[in-house]
Amino acid sequence: MEKVSKYELVFIRFTWIFIGVIAAHIVILDIGMQTGKNVYPSTAAKLCFFTLAILFNIIKYFLIKKDLLFRKKVYHILRLAEVPVILSVMFFEGIGGWAYIMLMFLILITSFYGGRKFSFILVGYAFLANVVLKYLFYFHLNEYKFISLLESPEDIIYMFSIYLGFFLFTVFCCMLYKDNYENEQQNKKLFMEIANKYEQLAAAQEEIKSQNYKLRECNSKLEDANKKFMTSLAELFTLQQITQAISSILDVKELLKSVNDIIIGVMGVSSSTIILYDEKKGRLRVHTTNIANRKELVILNDNINCQKLLAALQNGEPILENFVDMEEYPFAEGRGIHSLLCVPLTTKARKFGLVLIEHKYFNAFDDNNLRLLNIIGQQVGIAMENVELYQRMHEMATIDSLTGIYNRLYFQERLREEIANAKKENYDLSLAIMDIDHFKRFNDTFGHLFGDKVLKHIAQLMKKSLRSGDIIARYGGEEFVILLPRTSIKEAYDKVERLRNIIAKTTIKDELVEASVTVSFGVSSYPEFSNNESELLKSADNALYEAKESGRNCVRIPS
Ligand code: GH3
Ligand code: MG
Ligand code: MG
Repeated sequence: MEKVSKYELVFIRFTWIFIGVIAAHIVILDIGMQTGKNVYPSTAAKLCFFTLAILFNIIKYFLIKKDLLFRKKVYHILRLAEVPVILSVMFFEGIGGWAYIMLMFLILITSFYGGRKFSFILVGYAFLANVVLKYLFYFHLNEYKFISLLESPEDIIYMFSIYLGFFLFTVFCCMLYKDNYENEQQNKKLFMEIANKYEQLAAAQEEIKSQNYKLRECNSKLEDANKKFMTSLAELFTLQQITQAISSILDVKELLKSVNDIIIGVMGVSSSTIILYDEKKGRLRVHTTNIANRKELVILNDNINCQKLLAALQNGEPILENFVDMEEYPFAEGRGIHSLLCVPLTTKARKFGLVLIEHKYFNAFDDNNLRLLNIIGQQVGIAMENVELYQRMHEMATIDSLTGIYNRLYFQERLREEIANAKKENYDLSLAIMDIDHFKRFNDTFGHLFGDKVLKHIAQLMKKSLRSGDIIARYGGEEFVILLPRTSIKEAYDKVERLRNIIAKTTIKDELVEASVTVSFGVSSYPEFSNNESELLKSADNALYEAKESGRNCVRIPS
């Protein structure tokens, strides 16, 4: 098609030359060589056909430029209109031969684009138009009187020979074009095949694309599942660690320290803090934290009793803040904290406190973190309750119910520890055994209940007069034992002697009775009088025996 439009453009240029020739014809013959006679054709008629030729050429030019010329109908109409225009110019401008060259050109490019059939039609049509126009021309020349064309047979023969030439030229062009056409057909077929293949390829590509998309979707689902799985695994690991800590640690301080370490390790946070609630004072207090910076610690401690945290504890509701407002959370101000997560450490019965984890980044926590920390909070709450329960049970097992001081079992445990410590650190450890004098008689005189009161009173008296590191326990019925670490026999003797004196001077009363008792002490010490716990006990017991033998109400040391 491009080739044909190129020919058409050449034809248009050629037509411009043709039009130029017409113009020259008008200028030279009509204007330059004015004879004063009225010759035919008139200048007005010439100008009219001249303008028509120009207009036609311009229209054709625009049709080519707008790509409209090669629509079948437009092409046929234009071609058929072009023939009479050329012939009219030939007759009415008086420039005979040129027009036949134009016609030949026209037939040539028509046979290329319009095909053989249309080319023959065009030649026939041109012939008929030529005959009609020739007749009209003669008719006009003869002043509109009928004439027969056969009156000038040379003209007819000349015309026939020209159109025969055109016919042969068309046949020749079509033969030339046939080869070209076959090639084109083959090319077209090849092109169609390629187009077909291309379409198949495009379809295959589309299919691959869709499969690829599905694969990608699958992959992202797998990734999601994997992420969830990893989160669950991390949760499981954390909970397992916490459960382990909970089940093996029976000291609150140690438990909370361990839980805090696990939280930091697993959740990868900037800081983790466990805050405990003092029910009596109604205040929060930082118990365990990984924050080491002193300035930060001061800010945290000073501002921990803020409304938000107290409300979270009271309502048992967690807090998730990814854009921390410093006015609401004053403990975060000046510490570069932008995200925080806080869950209560509560059980149904108790509100122990809060776990607070913080991050320097914005938007650091999500619902998964909240869920995990909540579970940790619940577990730790239960663990704290268990620890309290354990401590109470331990107390019950180690404390004498009548006197409220330690029992013999606990004492023996401590004695073992203290001896080991004294050996390790090389210090004196003294031990005193005390027995109430004639207590059987006392009971018989004042009754067992009053006897119990005496035991309680003496136990409290002894407890009060001892240092915090000293250990006092009920050893038997009316026997008590005192362990004095880092105390020599001399110091122990003095202390016990003072105590004996106080007891002897003390009177115990109830509504009916008022009485006092005396006590005897046997004191010994490590390493001066013994090498181990049993020797220490034995030597102190022997000293007590000595005291009893010596008349009671006195203190004795091993001799
Ligand atoms: P001493 O030690 O001076 O030789 O004479 P004692 O009368 O204290 O002798 P002993 O050790 O034989 O008697 C201990 C008495 O302590 C016997 C018992 O009635 C009394 N006793 C033991 N446990 C309790 C107790 O829990 N409450 C009361 N009220 N008395 C007790
Ligand atoms: Mg006794
Ligand atoms: Mg006694």
